[in-house]
Amino acid sequence: DNGQLKEKLIKDFPGLSKEIDGQQVYYLDSAATTLKPRQMVEAINDYYLGVSANIHRGKHFALEEVSNQYEGVRYKVANLIDCSGNEVVFLRNTTEAINLVASGLNLSKTDRVVCMAESHHSNMLPWLQAASVDYIRVTDDFCVDLEHYQSLLASKPKVVALTHCSNVTGIYIDLPLMVKMAKAAGALVVVDAAQSVPHRKLSVSELDIDFLAFSAHKMLGPTGVGVLYGKSQLLEKLTPLNLGGGVVDWVEFDAFTLRKVPHRFEAGTPNISGVLGLGASIDYLNGLGFDFIREHDKRLGRFMLEQAGKRDYLQVLNSDPDADRGAVLSFTIPKSPNLDDVARYLSDSFGIMCRNGHLCAQPYISSVSPGQVLRVSGYVYTFESDIEHFFDSLDQIVSFL
Ligand code: PMP
Repeated sequence: DNGQLKEKLIKDFPGLSKEIDGQQVYYLDSAATTLKPRQMVEAINDYYLGVSANIHRGKHFALEEVSNQYEGVRYKVANLIDCSGNEVVFLRNTTEAINLVASGLNLSKTDRVVCMAESHHSNMLPWLQAASVDYIRVTDDFCVDLEHYQSLLASKPKVVALTHCSNVTGIYIDLPLMVKMAKAAGALVVVDAAQSVPHRKLSVSELDIDFLAFSAHKMLGPTGVGVLYGKSQLLEKLTPLNLGGGVVDWVEFDAFTLRKVPHRFEAGTPNISGVLGLGASIDYLNGLGFDFIREHDKRLGRFMLEQAGKRDYLQVLNSDPDADRGAVLSFTIPKSPNLDDVARYLSDSFGIMCRNGHLCAQPYISSVSPGQVLRVSGYVYTFESDIEHFFDSLDQIVSFL
């Protein structure tokens, strides 16, 4: 039940009990990064307070043990998204993963890439640099215009770069349908799953996705670790971004042989402790259960929308009650296009940490809103009472505007 769960979460997440200047903190910025459970931090500590050896380079016992743990997390990730261990590459974050794909495919400006208008900058700028980009239009109710998507596919793009769940609206696209359409047009499908893998179980194999990226820090894990999934036969053909130690089988003065995938993409000493932390965060999420997480998100998202609907001073970006949404809500306050002061009051007077601005999706926000948006986002440790506190506080602030 809720009471017992809350008790457990408060014990596990020290961030939930933090006070600043005697004021309780309400953390409503989980779409930016999540709070961390003790179990995850302990996994990192265990590494540094133990024999914190390097991996994969030598034969001593400590190194072998750490290498096994590190590779064990690769299989945990593979189980999570339903692929093989050799299809999981550890990188720094979603951004680096998408950059690796965009540069490693060796595209040219004559190649077309289809992107979503509501893409995060990290699923837009790497493509803009590598190729020619077409954006799928957004409908009046802030959804993907599927007819326009179909018409863009007719120009035979090399790549379709999708975002499974928007960090702005919290709305999920119909991924199976959009992947199928892209495949029928012969495109490679790259999915930014930074906002979805932490929240929903998905199978890259069933969906027939070619590349998929996400970050540990948005799923209770540490910063500095991201995952790139790639079909093994496609990873084989991808050009690595970095070369050096750890990625080669044999080196001569004028030639080298790359290691097999995925190791050839992990040059230099990786974020070993971070990967072990990600392992612990996956264990924690599996312990809560992805069915629970999905339902909890859904309930929270619906509650956010209901509460927003009671306020006529704000306008929600996509207020469709039937949309497939997570626990993220963004809105504008028309009488206050710049929301810096509102966000500052929410923080300093009410202890509420939420996000304002263009949310790393500036072209999209600028096209749908005259100014900034305010975003609230929750995760497994967020409850309806936190959302009530947010809207009650916002009411007070807006009454002074
Ligand atoms: N894509 C989406 C949809 C995101 O929400 C984010 C993080 N805000 C990113 C990509 C980038 O993630 P990271 O900063 O971990 O690279």
